[in-house]
Amino acid sequence: MIGVARNTWRIGGFPFFSINAYLVDDILVDCGTRWEARRFLKELKGCDLSMVALTHCHPDHQGAARAICEHFKVPLACHEADRAAMEGRAPIGPDTLPIRISNRFFTGPAYEVARSFTDGDMLGRLRVVHAPGHTPGHCMFYREDDALLIAGDVMANMNFITLRPGFREPPKFFSHDPAQNRASMRRILEINPRLVVFGHGPPVSDLGRLGAFIERLS
Ligand SMILES: [Zn+2]
Ligand SMILES: [Zn+2]
Repeated sequence: MIGVARNTWRIGGFPFFSINAYLVDDILVDCGTRWEARRFLKELKGCDLSMVALTHCHPDHQGAARAICEHFKVPLACHEADRAAMEGRAPIGPDTLPIRISNRFFTGPAYEVARSFTDGDMLGRLRVVHAPGHTPGHCMFYREDDALLIAGDVMANMNFITLRPGFREPPKFFSHDPAQNRASMRRILEINPRLVVFGHGPPVSDLGRLGAFIERLS
């Protein structure tokens, strides 16, 4: 675990720390692929977790959810619109070949969502910011106290081939509605955070550069 802000740690996962989860206060935001359950349990040993919250239901974010929730006896939370996919009542989408392949190899077992949330809800000190498009229930989480934004996959700070840092939209074949996702990216500008952390790639505090990237897309 690497500290990225007060009471906030980045847990980087396979391959080459390219998939991030975050421990924010006592909430675990996202939890890698199903292959990482053991590593999460080791990294989180001794932590006083209160819940696992998902930015969205994709194989690289929900994989170890059941293992962690069962081990720590904590609830799983995600947006209402991604709930059926997490509970195995609907397919994880979009229905594209890369998603079908990653579902097959990386998706963790279905698990009951004990708490579904919607825009504006509070999870501890985190405000839910619904940012649909990548998935229908994709959310960001904002901690007002220190203006920290957990952006999930609304955008990435990583090239998905070279794994080098750099702002990117998520690949189109991983998103339900790329145009809607692009509109959701603009919520980052409205929120005007001081630090942004991503599902993929390192954190960014240069909001000028980030803002210019988002403006250029629209
Ligand atoms: Zn995703
Ligand atoms: Zn992802």
